Amino acid sequence: MSALISPETGVRLSADEPHWRGPAGELLDLEFDPTFDPERIAQRPPTMWRYREALPINDDASIVTLGEGCTPMIPYFNAGVRGQVLLKLDTLFPSGSYKDRGASVLISKARELGITRVVEDSSGNAGAAIATYCARAGIACDIYVPADTSPAKLEQIRLAGATLHPIEGDRDATATAALTAAEHTYYASHVWNPYFFHGTKTCAYEIAEQLGWNAPDTIVTPVGNGTLLLGLHLGFSELRAAGLIERLPRLIAVQAEACAPLVSAWRGRQRKITPRPTVAEGIAIPQPRRADQCLNAVRETKGEFVPVSERELNKAWLAALAAGLYIEPTSAAALAPLGHCDVGSKAVALLTGHGLKAAGKPAKIASTPP
Ligand SMILES: *Cc1c(COP(=O)(O)O)cnc(C)c1O
Repeated sequence: MSALISPETGVRLSADEPHWRGPAGELLDLEFDPTFDPERIAQRPPTMWRYREALPINDDASIVTLGEGCTPMIPYFNAGVRGQVLLKLDTLFPSGSYKDRGASVLISKARELGITRVVEDSSGNAGAAIATYCARAGIACDIYVPADTSPAKLEQIRLAGATLHPIEGDRDATATAALTAAEHTYYASHVWNPYFFHGTKTCAYEIAEQLGWNAPDTIVTPVGNGTLLLGLHLGFSELRAAGLIERLPRLIAVQAEACAPLVSAWRGRQRKITPRPTVAEGIAIPQPRRADQCLNAVRETKGEFVPVSERELNKAWLAALAAGLYIEPTSAAALAPLGHCDVGSKAVALLTGHGLKAAGKPAKIASTPP
């Protein structure tokens, strides 16, 4: 039996009811016992649902899928880096970002709960993923986004049939607007809703399976709210508990220097920061709600938080494009530190979003010399 529990207050709620936070407004995690049978997994189709017994959906009929997951891993194009670096192409998802991992599990759970309308807020990609899976499931959705989000993402959300609410101000203003709407509607939040993390954790499963059920030394990932970071930590922890891997990979969490509250907290400085504009719009989160969990996850794996400058982001992004990897600028955060941080002898860097997501923006950046 699975349950929703608050790590802060210990409150326990039924996972068969539509809770996304506790009675005192606390964050919830899902208590759930996954199982893995590598032989059965190997015989199933190449989607993230091959790890069926590790995904917290009771009934197969509830599953909302577009054949997502099992994205390729390819060698890094820059031979100058020490050790082996593999790139995991999570750009290749139905909606163009890894957020589909979380959306597929979360919207499956919403369907299982009989929910017919959800609300979500995002800097773009999570909204696009939730809108996409709601379209597949026939669930209505309201998506709140900052008004200056990339036009391609806005169009994607609108054309998936969602009701789009552009909000003036920063990312936190958007979150506040969505929270108000969520007083009356199920909050399919990639930050609050624990089912999202039980989707993003499949990235860890895939990496381990693709390496012959081994963990790499390090994982390099962009981090804003930490929905991928925490999913990776959860997934690798579950694999270790099941005896499939021996140790957790070091998590290297990359933030844009222009908006790096977690780097600041990691270095023992203030959490409250004044954000500056960044090309890495997907991780420009001034107040990540699961900050403590992110810091603990990185600490537990003996990883680190790394800031990258706009100049480094642009350089890494242009190099990726020139090497045939059409990624969005946010994803360059996983590449920017590779030259100067210790990634061990085997590392996986996560390419999180497709270049078409930022249509219009890239051309503008490319024509502005650093
Ligand atoms: C959402 C997102 C991330 C990671 O963001 P978190 O806020 O840490 O969940 C990274 N890259 C892209 C392209 C994204 O959309």
